[in-house]
Amino acid sequence: MQVNTLILGAGAAGLQAAAFAGPKTLVIDHAKAPGEKIRISGGGRCNFTNLGTTAANFISRNPHFAKSALARYSQWDFIDLVDRHRIPWHEKTLGQLFCDTSAKDIIAMLRSEMEAAQARLWLNTAVEEVSHDGDLFHVRLSRDGKVGTVQARALVVATGGKSIPKMGATGLAYQIATQFGLAVTDTRPALVPFTFSDEKFKPLAGTATPARVTTQDGTSFDEAMLFTHRGLSGPAILQASSYWHDGEDVTVAVAPDLDLAPLLKDQRRDQGRKALTTALGAHLPPRLVDYLSGEMDLTGNVGDISDGRIDAICEVLANWSLKPSGTEGYRTAEVTLGGVDTDGLSSKTMEAKAVPGLYFIGEAVDVTGWLGGYNFQWAWSSGYAAGTAIAARLG
Ligand SMILES: Cc1cc2nc3c(=O)[nH]c(=O)nc-3n(C[C@H](O)[C@H](O)[C@H](O)COP(=O)(O)OP(=O)(O)OC[C@H]3O[C@@H](n4cnc5c(N)ncnc54)[C@H](O)[C@@H]3O)c2cc1C
Repeated sequence: MQVNTLILGAGAAGLQAAAFAGPKTLVIDHAKAPGEKIRISGGGRCNFTNLGTTAANFISRNPHFAKSALARYSQWDFIDLVDRHRIPWHEKTLGQLFCDTSAKDIIAMLRSEMEAAQARLWLNTAVEEVSHDGDLFHVRLSRDGKVGTVQARALVVATGGKSIPKMGATGLAYQIATQFGLAVTDTRPALVPFTFSDEKFKPLAGTATPARVTTQDGTSFDEAMLFTHRGLSGPAILQASSYWHDGEDVTVAVAPDLDLAPLLKDQRRDQGRKALTTALGAHLPPRLVDYLSGEMDLTGNVGDISDGRIDAICEVLANWSLKPSGTEGYRTAEVTLGGVDTDGLSSKTMEAKAVPGLYFIGEAVDVTGWLGGYNFQWAWSSGYAAGTAIAARLG
């Protein structure tokens, strides 16, 4: 069988590319349903983009690479598509847009766009082998127990990264890149909770607090932090994990927007007979205060505490240094950091510079977004870049 375009992977990027790639496009996926990560994303409501998306919200060895694709298919283009399909949405926080009803609305929309473009979808289809004869790609596929070869003029690799293998993630994109001589940068789990080998936060599991989490390179995120049985999670920690390396510390400022020292000094005047832990518990989660009383001296009444001691306590709360022993890994990571090196790809089309007709899009590429809808926006933008370039090339 011969097609113009074969897209490997029916996730966010592959479905988007299929809507633009032109006639005779086939999308294959080894899963039994398309867009499985879309379905589970955003707690089932899919944080499908971010109003504030710019290239500064992405991590890549080349921080400029994402600019062109993001400019040519922006968050406004995707919002326009969502509106044309009458999918209700709302802004939750920090520019993050979510479906009002269900992430399944986004999958249905992408499927209908793809079908309108007459692209075909084969599910339960595994990739056995990929080769190139200098003109056509030959991809051996197995489907329903039968093995066959599809020949394609363009091959789009949209098989994502390594995160959540239970949901079908494989390293296929990196294998294909390596096979065709493209470099792959080091990959590691990102947007992932931290673990601590001593499980020291177990007594606090389930407690959340606003926090500013700063990694050793000086990157900071002000969002919620959550204590878990095995360590730390919540948006501030997930964001920081993308900038953290094994063995490094992170610095946590608890309740960073609160000027705690003057508040405690006022309480000393008005409520001097309150225990210091009770006074702190008015501003911080009481379970956290209990925990901290095991780490530092919080005994006595607030009225008996000197300015110097209040300042010292507040200094510790603003610069709490923690050394994670690791992360929860690909099992729970929302994304894979790193991937197909952008040096080998055109930033306009996502085509491999050395292999005409071969494209890499989405999470497979060394472009990783922050938490907040940026990763899907990269899938939409890079999918559009490859799809429209193929349509223009193959006519
Ligand atoms: C729990 C969770 C929640 C998330 N929430 C959000 C969110 O709200 N907002 C956001 O922006 N991002 C979110 N993300 C990240 C987002 O899901 C990904 O960045 C995005 O799905 C990447 O799109 P993709 O098309 O490149 O890859 P994927 O969506 O991973 O699609 C890859 C496809 O390729 C298929 N595939 C893989 N290997 C093979 C193979 N060997 N043969 C055949 N098929 C193969 C897979 O089955 C899959 O369908 C979340 C991720 C997770 C895990």
